[in-house]
Amino acid sequence: LTFEEANLCQTLNNNIAKAGYTKLTPVQKYSIPIILAGRDLMACAQTGSGKTAAFLLPILAHMMHDGITASRFKELQEPECLIVAPTRELVNQIYLEIGLKQIKYLVLDEADRMLDMGFGPEMKKLISCPGMPSKEQRQTLMFSATFPEEIQRLAAEFLKSNYLFVA
Ligand code: AMP
Repeated sequence: LTFEEANLCQTLNNNIAKAGYTKLTPVQKYSIPIILAGRDLMACAQTGSGKTAAFLLPILAHMMHDGITASRFKELQEPECLIVAPTRELVNQIYLEIGLKQIKYLVLDEADRMLDMGFGPEMKKLISCPGMPSKEQRQTLMFSATFPEEIQRLAAEFLKSNYLFVA
């Protein structure tokens, strides 16, 4: 079975081709039609089997099929999909397969507070994670009540060098 035959949607198929996938893995072959049909599913699949794409692709196909009409736009402000996984690493891996490449705007709100709370390393990790568009390709907005040296360093790291400063 090829992805073209899997009844996902053209936009997804284009992206799948870009990712270099040609054939469905066994868990994808069995799971995708079931998930597309709206059925519940319990699947046994090991890491490396392609299980992440097996659930992400049909969920995305459902969401894209529903379209974004004006009336649905309000609903979409709320998350529609909750993925629960046991480890931070796995969540990161799932996250990498979706979506970060679509990020156009990155807002770091209360950056000084996040630093105070010890989230500096997390912020750096987020910014340098493989799927994240480079600072040239995204618009980054940092908000902070104070502008101490540490925040200045973060701003230099996260924002384009010609960033504007308002106080
Ligand atoms: P997973 O089992 O979800 O951890 O996926 C293992 C790896 O296989 C990930 O790096 C996926 O990007 C990749 N992958 C998933 N589906 C396919 C496919 N149909 N063809 C080639 N690689 C795939």
